[in-house]
Amino acid sequence: MKNLVFDINVILDLWLERQPEDQLRLIASLIDGQRSGLARGWIASPSLHVLEYLARAQFKREGADPEEAKDRVKRLLANLLQRLNPLSSFGFHQDAALLAQTDLEDAQIVAAAAELQGPTAIVTNDKRFDTTGTALVQFRPAEVSAWLKQLPAEQLPNEQPLAFVDIKTQQNAIRPALEQQIHRVLHHGQYILGPEVTELEQQLATFTGAQHCISVASGTEALLISLMALDIGPGDEVITTPFTFVATVEVIVLLGATPIFVDIEPDTANIDASLIEAKLSEHTKAILPVSLYGQPADMGAINAIAARHGHLPVIEDAAQSFGASYQGKRSGSLSTIGCTSFFPSKPLGCYGDGGAIFTSDDRLAQACREIRVHGQSARYVHSRIGVGGRMDTLQAAIVLAKLPRFEHEITQRQAVARQYHDLLAMEEQGITQKQKQDIVRALPCSSVAKPLPWPKPDRTSVFAQYTLRVQDRDRLQTKLKEQGIPTAVHYPVPLNEQPAYRHLCCPDCTPVAQQLAREVMSLPMHADLSAVDQQRIVTALKASGV
Ligand SMILES: *Cc1c(COP(=O)(O)O)cnc(C)c1O
Repeated sequence: MKNLVFDINVILDLWLERQPEDQLRLIASLIDGQRSGLARGWIASPSLHVLEYLARAQFKREGADPEEAKDRVKRLLANLLQRLNPLSSFGFHQDAALLAQTDLEDAQIVAAAAELQGPTAIVTNDKRFDTTGTALVQFRPAEVSAWLKQLPAEQLPNEQPLAFVDIKTQQNAIRPALEQQIHRVLHHGQYILGPEVTELEQQLATFTGAQHCISVASGTEALLISLMALDIGPGDEVITTPFTFVATVEVIVLLGATPIFVDIEPDTANIDASLIEAKLSEHTKAILPVSLYGQPADMGAINAIAARHGHLPVIEDAAQSFGASYQGKRSGSLSTIGCTSFFPSKPLGCYGDGGAIFTSDDRLAQACREIRVHGQSARYVHSRIGVGGRMDTLQAAIVLAKLPRFEHEITQRQAVARQYHDLLAMEEQGITQKQKQDIVRALPCSSVAKPLPWPKPDRTSVFAQYTLRVQDRDRLQTKLKEQGIPTAVHYPVPLNEQPAYRHLCCPDCTPVAQQLAREVMSLPMHADLSAVDQQRIVTALKASGV
C-alpha cells in the first residue's frame, strides 16, 4: 500500500473549512484512505502539537472560549488519530546538520516520512518541502488521486528482483506499535528482563496454551537450555531427524550426547514416527522431532511412543511452525517441551535473535528459567550449570508489536500457499493417496516438479517455507534467479552427511532424507506476497520447463 504523509496545512484546511466543499470532501476521503484500501495515512508526530496549537488559536480568534476551543480540538485530534497513524523519526535528533539549517517541523516530517517503506508522498497545500536525498514526492490534495491511481511499482510487470521473505511491508503495517514499543524500552531502560519480556512470555503462553513460556536468546538457545533442563549429557542418545537446520543436532552434540537419526516421511519431510521404535535403546533420553516448513510433526504418534518407553521426554523443534496447530492444539504446546525461534525470517520474527521455550511442567520451567541466567536460583546462588541465554527486552518489545497482526499473517501465508498449490499441484482426480506418494517417491526420474502434499487434515501449517520437489534443481534455481526470483534450499545436505556429523550415523540409513535433500526447493513466501508477484513466480517456474 502507498503511504500518504499529511502536512498540517491540509488538515487545518479541513478543520477550519478554508476550502470549497468539494476540496474538503477530497481531503476527508484521502485522510480516510486506509479504510478504503487507498493508501496508508500518516501524520508526523512532531506535527501534532503544532496542529493543536494553531487550531486552538484559530477557534479562539473566531470567538470560541478557551475551554470550548480546547475541547473541540481534542475531539478533532481523536477523530484524526483514528484515521492517520502517528509517525516519528528515529534519526532526526542526532542530525546536527538538519537541526542547524532547516525549518525544524518540515525537516521532522521529511525525516519521518523517509523512514517508511515503499512509495510515499507528502500531501501539502502550498509550501514545498526540502526532500533532497529522499525518494519522497509531494502533491496537493487535488493531485494525489492521480498518483494513487498509478500502479505501484510492485504491481507493474517488472524484472525487479523479488524478496524471498518480505518483512518491510509488515513494518509499515505495524509501525506505530513498533515505535511505541521501542520508545517505551528506551524510556524505562530495563534492557535485560524488562517488563516487555514478562508481558511477551504471558501472551505467548496464552497463545499456545502452554502453562509456561520462557523467552531466550535464540531458537538454538531454546533447544540447548531444554536439553540441559532434561539433564541430557554424555552417554545419552537423542532421537531426531537429519533433515533440519543444523542447530537441532548441534545442541545434542555440544552436550556430549549422541543424535540418533531417524528417516523422514516423503510427504511432510518430518521424522517418520513409524521408524522411531526400532532406534530406541537403553540410552535413549529424549525424542526431538522438528516441525519442518511450518507443519507439525506427527506429535500424537511420537508422544505415544515416548509414553510407552518409560515416559521419554519429547522436545518439539517448533522454530518453523510457531502458530501452526495439530489436532486443535498449537505447535510448541504439543509435548513435554516446545522450542521456537524469532529469527527475523521465521513466521513470527523479531529484529535480531530471539526464541522461546514452552512447557506445562513446572519443574522443567523452573529449570529453564535458572539455566537461562547462569543456573542462578537466587542472586549469586548458582544451583546448576547454566548459560547467558536471555532474550533482550528490545527484541521482546518488537515481538509484542508484531503479535496483534500475527493471526492475519498466518491466514495470509496459508492463502498464498493455497494459491501456489492450486497453480502447481498435480491433477488429483483419480489418483489415490497411495499412488500419489508412489509418484512423489519416484520423482527423481520424472520430468516434473511437484509441491509437497498439502498439510495433513489433522494439522495446519504456517508455511515457514513453501517447498517443491524438483528435478535439475541447480539449473532451475539459476533460471529463476535470472528472472529476479529467489529460491532457497532447506536443506541441501542431510546432517548425517555433514563433515562435522557424518561419523555419527551411516549416511545411507536415511534414504528419504537423502533424496529430499537433492530435490527440495522453496519459493518466496511471506504474508504480504501479492497475487501479481505470485503469478509472476509461477509463470516463470512453468516457463522453465516445469
Ligand atoms: C531457525 C531454526 C533453528 C534455530 O533458531 P535460531 O533462532 O536461528 O537459533 C533451529 N531449528 C530449526 C528447525 C530452525 O529452522
